[in-house]
Amino acid sequence: MSGKTLSLSSSIQSINGIGENRVVALAEVGISTIGDLLDYFPRKHLDRTTLTSTSDLKKGTHATIIGKVEVAGIRQNKRRKYFQAILSDGKGMLTLTWFNGASYMNKTIKVGDRLAVSGNIDFFNGYQIVHPEFDKLKDNEDPINSGSVIPLYPITTKLKKTGLDSRGIRRIIKSSLDSLNEIPDYFSGKFRTEHGLITLDNAIRNIHFADSQKNLNEAIYRLKFDEHFFLQMLMGLRKSAVKQTKTKALKKTGPYLKIIMNSLEFELTGSQQIVLNDIKSDMAKSVSMNRLLQGDVGSGKTIVSILASTIAKANSCQVAIMAPTEILAHQHYVSFKKYLDRAQITCAILVGGTSKRERKSILDGLSNGRIDIIIGTHSLIQKDVIFKSLGLVIVDEQHRFGVLQRGDLISKGLNPHFLAMTATPIPRTLAITYHGDMDISIIDEMPKDRIPTITKVVDEKRLIKVYSFMKEEVDEGRQCMVIYPLVEETEKSDLAAAVEMHSYLSKKIFNDINVGLIHGRMKKDEKDSIMSAYERNEIQILVSTTVIEVGIDIPNATVMMIEHADRFGLTQLHQLRGRVGRGKQKSYCILVRRNFTENSKKRLRIMESTNDGFLISDEDLKLRGPGEFFGIRQSGFLKYKIANMVTDGPILRDARKAAFNLIGDDPNLENSENTLIRTQFIKNYQDKLHETNIS
Ligand code: ADP
Ligand code: MG
Repeated sequence: MSGKTLSLSSSIQSINGIGENRVVALAEVGISTIGDLLDYFPRKHLDRTTLTSTSDLKKGTHATIIGKVEVAGIRQNKRRKYFQAILSDGKGMLTLTWFNGASYMNKTIKVGDRLAVSGNIDFFNGYQIVHPEFDKLKDNEDPINSGSVIPLYPITTKLKKTGLDSRGIRRIIKSSLDSLNEIPDYFSGKFRTEHGLITLDNAIRNIHFADSQKNLNEAIYRLKFDEHFFLQMLMGLRKSAVKQTKTKALKKTGPYLKIIMNSLEFELTGSQQIVLNDIKSDMAKSVSMNRLLQGDVGSGKTIVSILASTIAKANSCQVAIMAPTEILAHQHYVSFKKYLDRAQITCAILVGGTSKRERKSILDGLSNGRIDIIIGTHSLIQKDVIFKSLGLVIVDEQHRFGVLQRGDLISKGLNPHFLAMTATPIPRTLAITYHGDMDISIIDEMPKDRIPTITKVVDEKRLIKVYSFMKEEVDEGRQCMVIYPLVEETEKSDLAAAVEMHSYLSKKIFNDINVGLIHGRMKKDEKDSIMSAYERNEIQILVSTTVIEVGIDIPNATVMMIEHADRFGLTQLHQLRGRVGRGKQKSYCILVRRNFTENSKKRLRIMESTNDGFLISDEDLKLRGPGEFFGIRQSGFLKYKIANMVTDGPILRDARKAAFNLIGDDPNLENSENTLIRTQFIKNYQDKLHETNIS
């Protein structure tokens, strides 16, 4: 070896034994330089604490075992050939069985191999794992006796085919580290001491080859910190970019706010008042407001957004309110109009279904300033929608829109103030990760007159009782909803199930009651006429697919029955539940469970135990993970290499504080002491630089 000849930017081909095929296979997992290779973190580590001895195996648990292959070969039963190996760890035996790829496995696993295997433990003539995950180890790799830690890497089939299994990856990482000088650290010694961090060089070396669990933990901490730090740096820089863009300060409150306040049939809750004051003081500044308003379903966000809109009007500015669906836009329009009429403020609604003639007149009204407030769907971002002076943009449930669309609406004004509203209570850690560039206000208080909805989980056997309860409620003059899930892949059959259910309920169960059906495939007119019949109580029981999720506000509805409740996320169930309990009567949410796994039982029990949306979303995040929580569309943003926003709360908070302090002192990262941090930031967030003032 000729000493330390490599750098992080050296090509992967500088390592001995990396030829054409491996270059291609490595490129597919994003590795083309030594730096990329060192950033390819293990998916898990084996050490004493993560290993199980064959003498401690328990059926039905997940376990990882290290041992030597004693017997291996193809077997044959009545139906087919399969591959079997018997592993011994000195304490006992474990059978490994592969029904698929038997001949490939027969070539891969030989008597005498040392293996680390993981999987669910079965019992069939002794303990066995079917189709275990496995990694080959070297003879001297023995975490149980040596106290060492063995990294296991994510391996693709292609990598495997070129001989790069976990052991192969370990080998090339080892040889890179051996020929690499100390990896430069972008954090100063002082910074590291302040935040309890080991050096980057140490962290990288130890994430791959720790000689103790303690070293490994320190490495994990440092690398998690770095990931959170640079993401929070992006948030901070975005935020300061917004703050550095001047806009019109909307200082006057005008007569409108007072007129509407005085006309309210209720008093604002303390929370609503605080939030309104936050918004007022933001809008009075000459930098754009960028605020997220979170509040549970029914907490009264709409009236806050109406009052905020009157401030824009008082300063001769227009307001655009964007909602994710037509039903919701329409509902907003009705609420806005009711209050704005009292102050003689003009508002209009623009959606896909708006007629050509009407649309033209609205567009004229917006460009000449006759219309003060426009409510709509994504149709508001079309090119020909031009404002005279757009000063405030309000987006409801913005996570349902792409980022682009929101930006498109903002660009229709001169840096208008921006208010996002959401009824999906986002757990704190997620909020500062995902919306770290916004100021956040929370309405955490329900209007006083609300009676909490009672929730019950039932199974099929109880349905008859539930139906008779619904009948009683209808006899008392109240209304019910039955919700069916619509899962995209199986959309058709679920729709069919809802249709079938409707006909069963209307003919067999509730034959003297009007049972309506509404679903997403219906034409708009059809949906509207059913909704208004329900609003007028001409329909007493409404069977619906989840189109009902947002929007409808029927105070007389007291029972919501949700079929296949286990198929919904908790957050979604909570939103659905928010559709009842809006009036003066006691309301009920019945969750019908048709899946009997422990997990679904546990999840639904949470719904029975609390009405607190934040608690529910926290649990939901823990149980489903961030990708599921937000829906597939946005999960790319949350792809951490090693950080985990669900469990890293304290690290995340420290990293955020550190990043925001640094930006506070050096908003554009111009100080020479921050040069390396700046370089690393640019490297990590190349594609997001345009959202900041860094270039
Ligand atoms: P959300 O936050 O889900 O959008 P809404 O704004 O639709 O909730 O409010 C739900 C209902 O509560 C509406 O009928 C609204 O008029 C009413 N409401 C709002 N604020 C109060 C309050 N402070 N006291 C009593 N009722 C209120
Ligand atoms: Mg609302």
